[in-house]
Amino acid sequence: MTTSNVRVRFAPSPTGPLHMGGVRTALYNYLFARAHGGKFLLRIEDTDQTRYVEGAEDYVREALTWCGIEIDEGVVAGGEFGPYRQSERNAFYREAVELLLVSGHAYLAFDTPEELDALRKQAELDKNVFQYDASSRGGLKNSMSLSEEEVEALIENETPYIVRFKTPDIAEDITFTDEIRGNVTISSAVVDDKVLVKADGLPTYHLANVVDDYGMEISHVIRGEEWLPSAPLHIMLYRAFGWDAPKFAHLSLILKPTGNGKLSKRDGDAGGFPVFPIEWKDPKTGNMASGYREHGYEPEAFLNMLLMLGWNPGDDREMFTLEEAAKVFSLDKVVKSSARFSPDKARWFNEQYLRQKPMAELVPALIEIAGLQGITLDERDAGVVLKLMLERVTFLHEILEAKWLFGAPKHEDFDEKMVRKKWKPETAGYMSDLKTMLASTTLFKADEIESRFKSHLEEKDLSFGQVLLPFRLALTGAGGGPSMFEFAEFLGLETTLERLDFGTSMIEKMKEEQ
Ligand code: GLU
Repeated sequence: MTTSNVRVRFAPSPTGPLHMGGVRTALYNYLFARAHGGKFLLRIEDTDQTRYVEGAEDYVREALTWCGIEIDEGVVAGGEFGPYRQSERNAFYREAVELLLVSGHAYLAFDTPEELDALRKQAELDKNVFQYDASSRGGLKNSMSLSEEEVEALIENETPYIVRFKTPDIAEDITFTDEIRGNVTISSAVVDDKVLVKADGLPTYHLANVVDDYGMEISHVIRGEEWLPSAPLHIMLYRAFGWDAPKFAHLSLILKPTGNGKLSKRDGDAGGFPVFPIEWKDPKTGNMASGYREHGYEPEAFLNMLLMLGWNPGDDREMFTLEEAAKVFSLDKVVKSSARFSPDKARWFNEQYLRQKPMAELVPALIEIAGLQGITLDERDAGVVLKLMLERVTFLHEILEAKWLFGAPKHEDFDEKMVRKKWKPETAGYMSDLKTMLASTTLFKADEIESRFKSHLEEKDLSFGQVLLPFRLALTGAGGGPSMFEFAEFLGLETTLERLDFGTSMIEKMKEEQ
């Protein structure tokens, strides 16, 4: 294997739970690294102390672990380019900003937030927009406009200051090649003199991001479209440092199921689907937001769904495990347009993965989740239940909702509407005949029961509808489900007859009450 220079990073800010769009960004980075034999890094961008949320970093790591996205280098994993948490890297940023101050690409600014606010408001009144840049900085309080002595005096008096980037005096076009979008040109005129270091001495996202991508030898920056407007500033920063910029790839948005607007953190739950990989409890409000994991999704299904939300292999294949995707993933197959999220498609993927899973995995998984609900299942029963139900559910836990699998239905479990529609005055008689027939079945196996059932109907000149559905209702209380012949075999002769009796009398009582 050749050693690859590909190094990519996922760089979340711990400001809350990771949205599924963030997981997609992590996934594409991970696959790109794997496809090129490169490295995938996890860097925590926590320089904005005001937006820091307790537990968010742990959440990111737990979510990635659940997904099976392995981190080669980063917080916890470690590596030779650490530390990987920006709050622990201030020395690097100070050194870097010093370079820019010395070379004249950055300057100190002493304007107070109130002064800048007043300027913004005044500009608004004049139907203008205030921008801190070449057009205004000469008249403001900074080391470009003030004399050296004035600056020194301000520093001596401990006047708070920030460091700003000096954008070009004469506007120029900043052009770069985006690996997904092709050539992008943005005028430097739309970029203001961005803050690089805040009054608290900590770097802003822009400075820290560029210093770290360079310092960690990141080859490709693959990130969300919302960062596209920041790209020209980042390119100007690389130039100012005299560093080669990495390659950029900006991923398009994920849209709401309606197609109207970006899928936001608030779209989950209310819409009946999660937007977070795993459950999140807000540390301040205590509010819970649900996750794909807790909904019962297989991580492989969740990732496959995300993979196809913005990438395709160039043909109509849809099913990819992580390993398979890593072999074929490339940025040129990432789509430029936004992808609309479909909760139905997410469920479809889960069904596919569930049905593909080997019994050796499904059986213990079902036994475990059944146990959590106080249902004891042995391996044999779990296997049969799975065979009966797997094609009928989207999630494994849905099997447990069919309570009649594990015990006779209770009064409240009977589907009243079905009973009203399908249970006729003569039905109890049919059930009694059916019982006699079943009781005489020597080999209580699905095939045998089915063939005897058919002959029985012929003999009595009855239709399937007259007998099979009531039989189902009596045994399960429900109008739908798996093959009744297989289910009867699962119950065994004795229990089948018991349930048939019990269900019939229960339904007869209900009919009297109706
Ligand atoms: N910290 C940024 C975020 O939270 C990372 C942006 C980037 O990847 O450059 O999205």
